[in-house]
Amino acid sequence: MHELCHVWQYKTKRLSALKYLLRPAGWAYFYQFNPKKTFDDYPTEKQADLLQDWYLLNNGKQADNYDRAGAPPTKADINKVVPFKWA
Ligand SMILES: [Zn+2]
Repeated sequence: MHELCHVWQYKTKRLSALKYLLRPAGWAYFYQFNPKKTFDDYPTEKQADLLQDWYLLNNGKQADNYDRAGAPPTKADINKVVPFKWA
C-alpha cells in the first residue's frame, strides 16, 4: 500500500525524482494527524503512511503509522482526508 501510493503520486504529478530529493523533510516516516489539514498538506512519505493507515482502518485494523506523540486518526477522520473512496 505504501509503495502503491508513490505510484499514484507520480501519476498525479505530486511526486517527481527532483521533488523527492529537494524535500528531505518528506523522508521522515510517521505523520502527525491533523483533521484540519488536506492530503496535499502532508509531505510525500507521510501521504504514503497516511494511506497505509487508511487501508488498515478500513479493514478493521488499528492505525500503525502515525506519530506516537499524537493521537491516532479515527476511521471517520482519515476517510475525510484521504482523496479516495473506500469501495
Ligand atoms: Zn515511501
